[in-house]
Amino acid sequence: MKEPLIFDLSRKGRRGICFGTSDTPLRPIEELIPGNLMRREPADLPEIPESEVVRHFIRLSGLNYHVDKNMYPLGSCTMKYNPKINDAVSDLRGFTSMHPLQPAETAQGSLRLMYELSGMLAEIAGMAAVSLQPAAGAHGELTGILLIKKYHESNGSKRNKLLVVDSAHGTNPASAAIANYETISVASNADGRTDIDDLKAKLTPDVAALMLTNPNTLGLFEKDILTIEKLVHENGSLLYMDGANMNALMGITRPGDMGFDIVHYNLHKTFSAPHGGGGPGSGPVGVCEKLVPFLPVPVIEKTEKAGRLYYSMNMNKPQSIGRMMTFYGNFSVLVRAYAYIRMLGAEGVRRVSENAILNANYLLSRLLETFELPFPKPVMHEFCLSGDRQKKQHNVRTLDIAKRLLDYGFHAPTIYFPLIVSEALMIEPTETETIETLDAFADALLAIADEAESNPDLVMNAPTKTPVGRLDEAQASRKLNICYSGGC
Ligand SMILES: *Cc1c(COP(=O)(O)O)cnc(C)c1O
Repeated sequence: MKEPLIFDLSRKGRRGICFGTSDTPLRPIEELIPGNLMRREPADLPEIPESEVVRHFIRLSGLNYHVDKNMYPLGSCTMKYNPKINDAVSDLRGFTSMHPLQPAETAQGSLRLMYELSGMLAEIAGMAAVSLQPAAGAHGELTGILLIKKYHESNGSKRNKLLVVDSAHGTNPASAAIANYETISVASNADGRTDIDDLKAKLTPDVAALMLTNPNTLGLFEKDILTIEKLVHENGSLLYMDGANMNALMGITRPGDMGFDIVHYNLHKTFSAPHGGGGPGSGPVGVCEKLVPFLPVPVIEKTEKAGRLYYSMNMNKPQSIGRMMTFYGNFSVLVRAYAYIRMLGAEGVRRVSENAILNANYLLSRLLETFELPFPKPVMHEFCLSGDRQKKQHNVRTLDIAKRLLDYGFHAPTIYFPLIVSEALMIEPTETETIETLDAFADALLAIADEAESNPDLVMNAPTKTPVGRLDEAQASRKLNICYSGGC
């Protein structure tokens, strides 16, 4: 189904609503808006009744794809279903009518929520303290790297390099570069995990930290994490964990217990805030004891005042890296995460991870014979297939398979990432999908593999059932050698 542009629905003289004439004398518009900012010609706006505007946008929203419509299996980006109760809670008037400059005495509930959420996140990751300020995962990385910088500076140690494993999310080297570090890539081994020999060779005295994702973006747990931890710390470097995908670990094991010094979380992935379309997100940062003094200000503290609990904001932290956000971060996302964790409880949080892992391994088992799996299983919360077989045998690329999935009513997984897997199809089903949905998705991928053999043109010209057919992405993807199917 196609939907015309709203301009094509316009008919001259039609009106949505009419305001009556005002009985309050108005100042002339020329007095209100400076002449150089005034529009010379009348704006060419569509003329359309309210009923048709509403129907137009409702039809458009139905053409859109979203996680409330069907599974959204983006690897690494964790597009899982977000319980609506969390939205309802963050919409409570007590939260939405707060002003960030309100005195702390009148904001005790909100401060308590932030204080307790920090504590729960610290407990989940095994860290000493958590700052809720950063606005997204990448922003959390930058915050973490600035903490690393400050730590080394305060010890009089000059280090200008950050190690990043070659399977890492692209934001890792980008955050390192923004903080003015030189990024050194560490290789993955045939198992898809950090190559220890390469790590040893690159751990020179000028290395500030190793940034590691565990489980990594191939969905694999770094089995040698304790060896890695020892090597990194013996070198006087810090160990940073990209914890954007905590839904593989929560309640089962903790980055802090593995020896990580810093971890960032993505509340808009693991902790159920809707994302895509630009936010708002939240990327809190947790740190070990020795980095606590450097955390951003204000720090929310719990004290006692006149025999009652009292929450306050402390700006007086002389070693702090300063503010990372205006005020306290994206508060409505914090409320959702708080409601989500409180609703699940410790047992529920663990079950989330167990089901995320179970779902990924179940889906993988259904696809294993048809698609190549470049690295050995089992996997954690996601897995990365390769479309190499389909490309070699039928000249059908991963891009074509992803496009054809749209005809089957599914969003495509992440493709051509991580960069170390050729024709990568990176799939994360998440814990919120039922076995019926997982089966339907597997059936669609298997049917497409059959089509690649019997009717490759069909796959190569897909999608055919969407309002917009295939765009000319070939040029862009050749140029960049990557087609990261976004949504994060
Ligand atoms: C999503 C993601 C990030 C970046 O998070 P944003 O909120 O998109 O900035 C970093 N690392 C990994 C592994 C991710 O999946």
